[in-house]
Amino acid sequence: MSQIPTYVTGVPNGTEKGLYLAVDLGGTNFRVCSIHLNGDTTFNLTYTKVAIPKNLMTASSAQDLFGFLAKQIEQFLKIHHEDHFEAHIRRRQTVTSPDGYRDEHIFRLGFTFSFPVQQSGINKGTLIRWTKGFDIPDAVGKDVCALLQQEIDLLRLPVKVAALVNDTVGTLMARSYTSPGKTSTLLGAIFGTGTNGAYVEKVRNIRKPIGGEYDKSTGEMVINTEWGSFDNQLNHLPNTPYDEELDRDSVNPGYQMFEKRVSGMFLGEIVRLALVDMLKRPQSTLFTDANSGTNDWKSTTTINPDTGLFKQWGLDSSLMSIAAADGTPELSTLRQELENTLGIYSASFEDAKAFKDVAYAVGRRAARLSAVALGAVVLQSNKLNESNEPVDIGVDGSLVEHYPFFRTMIYEALAAIEGIGPEGAKRIRIGIAKDGSGVGAALIALVAAGMEKNAVPDYLNQLRSEVTERFGATIPQMGMATTLV
Ligand code: ADP
Ligand code: MG
Repeated sequence: MSQIPTYVTGVPNGTEKGLYLAVDLGGTNFRVCSIHLNGDTTFNLTYTKVAIPKNLMTASSAQDLFGFLAKQIEQFLKIHHEDHFEAHIRRRQTVTSPDGYRDEHIFRLGFTFSFPVQQSGINKGTLIRWTKGFDIPDAVGKDVCALLQQEIDLLRLPVKVAALVNDTVGTLMARSYTSPGKTSTLLGAIFGTGTNGAYVEKVRNIRKPIGGEYDKSTGEMVINTEWGSFDNQLNHLPNTPYDEELDRDSVNPGYQMFEKRVSGMFLGEIVRLALVDMLKRPQSTLFTDANSGTNDWKSTTTINPDTGLFKQWGLDSSLMSIAAADGTPELSTLRQELENTLGIYSASFEDAKAFKDVAYAVGRRAARLSAVALGAVVLQSNKLNESNEPVDIGVDGSLVEHYPFFRTMIYEALAAIEGIGPEGAKRIRIGIAKDGSGVGAALIALVAAGMEKNAVPDYLNQLRSEVTERFGATIPQMGMATTLV
């Protein structure tokens, strides 16, 4: 796994304050929000959300996508922060007057970008590769903050991209800000379009070189695991013909193999491929009856030939949620939904039950694999042995939030893991980090704004590293109680 150091060296405690902007490019949606941190573990949040147009996910140039994002930010500011926006336009003409244009009038923005990036500073990071169906080759290797800032500047918005945030890190920060009690959060995890996790690691356990400056006082750093790409070689992961087919027809065959068995974008597709395979088997009676006499709805089952059932990505995993939630004896909600979303008319009870069973198998496997990822981090942290406190985990994403029993199935699996067991599982506290990405991004933008003020000029850093290299000594940093000999 990539195990990317994030340069975030601590988690918040709930007393942080201020007004920040945050945007989140997730995979399915783009969210823009402003967050007022009240400093008492609460916040006020205003937000808008738009679906990312499919054609922009595979646009020919990065500008198409990032231009669209900047436009959404402009609209948000015009609607929700009109005063600030107008004042900014006025001030721009008055740069020289005392109450004229000043840097602190600019919104600090935390940019949640939920794709693998090589981060080289708090607001700098180059895209390693696209995932989740995105494919815009000319963005790969570029600094995504710069790409967004360019488009923001073209629109002359009063916004500075202050922090680059992975959604998992944002979730971790948000949960730590809002979580009950003084226990700080160990892990932030996403189960949405994709899946990933970020956790607090002891710096002494990190074997990768960590270049550049970071706060060494905590002895900790948040690691972005990129666990979506765990076991791309398939040494451990379960593999079915449906997994193989899904992977073969994806935009990135052989990559994100864990994610392809766990997250929202893929679960519906696995179910779909399994159903299509069942339909091909002569001995299977799924969605067929010779006449209405064999159907308890007294009409013959038919499938609209144009149905999503026969198209790649044609079955959204939210249908699995509906199946899992339908507790009616006749499965009438699910049968209605099969008609509405898949054009399967008059499905019998047995059809619906078969659908529900397949969906359950795929969903339960996903939850159990999710538990493997969460459990691994809990074991690595040794927190179950170190204290009696709860081990706090923040989660976000439509799958974990809306799929019924997803968390229950995760707990079931955690209890079965050696080293955790039923007692350990009880001490693991998994909480939804509601609006996690927004609040988390705001918190990281806050840290970043603080760093701007205390910024050490580059030449000083240069001098420091030269001295270290040549004399093997360290020039003390502000606040360090070392004397140079
Ligand atoms: P993003 O990944 O863009 O941040 P979300 O967390 O909302 O967005 O995740 C969107 C994914 O979740 C989509 O793949 C969608 O199919 C899936 N999804 C949405 N609603 C549900 C649901 N009720 N049950 C299961 N999966 C869902
Ligand atoms: Mg998300």
